[in-house]
Amino acid sequence: MNTIKKCPKCQKEVDAKATKCPYCQSDTRSWVRQHPIGVFLLFLIFLPIVISQINAEPTPVQTPAQQIHEVKFQSARILAKSHIEKIPLTSPSTAKYNPPTTKVDPTDPNLFEVSSYIDSQNGFGAMVRTYWSMKLKFKGEDTQESVETDANWEIVEFTFDGEKIK
Ligand SMILES: [Zn+2]
Repeated sequence: MNTIKKCPKCQKEVDAKATKCPYCQSDTRSWVRQHPIGVFLLFLIFLPIVISQINAEPTPVQTPAQQIHEVKFQSARILAKSHIEKIPLTSPSTAKYNPPTTKVDPTDPNLFEVSSYIDSQNGFGAMVRTYWSMKLKFKGEDTQESVETDANWEIVEFTFDGEKIK
């Protein structure tokens, strides 16, 4: 049993249980014992950090294939939107283009379906909702440059206001 410790100040051997050095009167307790409030405050400061780390969702690390897929996904959406916005409407100033929904074909990772609707006034001034949906196929290589090249995309199906245009 270790019943003797060294005084941190004068380095003389003192009883392990002593809180005060009998030679130099300095506090021989550990830093933690000497600073209970400081330890408690540190605990209060770091506890939320520790909790947030435990609860934090793991940062998703995307593989290069996943990154390319994400670029394709966004490109399909942007391409479809730009096509839709070129279609002349009766009352363009009243048009509200709602954000599209993009889906990947379950059997073909290069086939995307983008759909949404436009609210705008018809010739009689009544608000009408026009649904549209577009299927876009990517035919290029799996590189960012290739995905961002419009020529590598083909509209394979297009329905606008209930009418199958392609
Ligand atoms: Zn001492």
